This record gives sequence, C-alpha cells and structure tokens, in this order.
Amino acid sequence: MGDKRFNIGLPDKLGNELSKDFELNEEFFEFIGDVLIESCFFNVSVSVKRKHSFWDLEVKVDGFLQTFCDRCGDNLKVLIEGKDLYFLKAQERNKNFHDENIIFISSKKTDFNLKPLLEEACFLLFPVTRKHKIENCNKTVISKLDDIDRKMNGQTISSKILKDLKGKLKK
Ligand SMILES: [Zn+2]
Repeated sequence: MGDKRFNIGLPDKLGNELSKDFELNEEFFEFIGDVLIESCFFNVSVSVKRKHSFWDLEVKVDGFLQTFCDRCGDNLKVLIEGKDLYFLKAQERNKNFHDENIIFISSKKTDFNLKPLLEEACFLLFPVTRKHKIENCNKTVISKLDDIDRKMNGQTISSKILKDLKGKLKK
C-alpha cells in the first residue's frame, strides 16, 4: 500500500530516532491542482523519535514556490520555510484516524508512509496571498489594471485573469 519511497521505519527502543530526507518538486504536489504554481522545490527532512507510548515525528521544510504575483501577474518566487510536529500513537481502535497532529496507527506497524503527511505539511506552508512588495510590482501592468478596474466597477479580478491580461499587454 502506498509508495514505498515515502516509508519511514518506526524505532521500537525508547529514545531511538530515525530520519529521512526528501526532495519534492511540483510533480509531488500535482494533487493541489493549483494552476498558479508553476514549479516548486522543497528539501524536507523528517525524523521519528520513539517516546514512551508514542513517536514524535518532526517535518522540516525548506524551499521555494515559483508562482505569479496576485497583484501584477508577473513571476514571483516565494521562499517557504517551516516545521511541524506530529504524534504517532499505536492503537487498534480509531486506526488511521487523524485528529489535529495526532495520528493513530495500527500497533502492528513497523513503518509509516509519510506521503499524505508531507503533502499536508508543505501545503499548509503555501501562502494564501502571493504578492511582490508593492515597489517591486510591474508598474505598467498595475496602472493598466487600475483603468480596467474602474471600468469594471470594482469587480474582483482573479489572478488568472490578471495573468491572461498581462499576456495580451505584452503583444
Ligand atoms: Zn507584483
């Protein structure tokens, strides 16, 4: 079940730790279906440590997204850095039940598939709004947009439209 590349062993001796590194790009994140993420690259390091009645699992993420500015539609590189801590608890009931950062797994398990967790941990770090600093935005596009904005009576223009519009302006 699942992709073996993303399995990590669960150490059984108290205090023992295992770690694994991953390099993830946009192919890994295709589930997002966000057309505005052109590419991305993340170094992710995961470590699992055996505690008394559970494992703690730390996910560290360091990388970038290549996307488009919400305001001017130009290319925008967003640096992503962060970490998250999860707890794996062996328990027959509530198997595969996921509550906040506590994950219940079968007590027979000797390894754990990290794929869904990696998707989640990285995705949570993706910024909701992606914009240049105002002084770095494409000023030609912004002034054209201001004109159009007035004509459209304050209707919201999505990033996608901005991007199309920018394509037209270039021609
Ligand atoms: Zn911009």
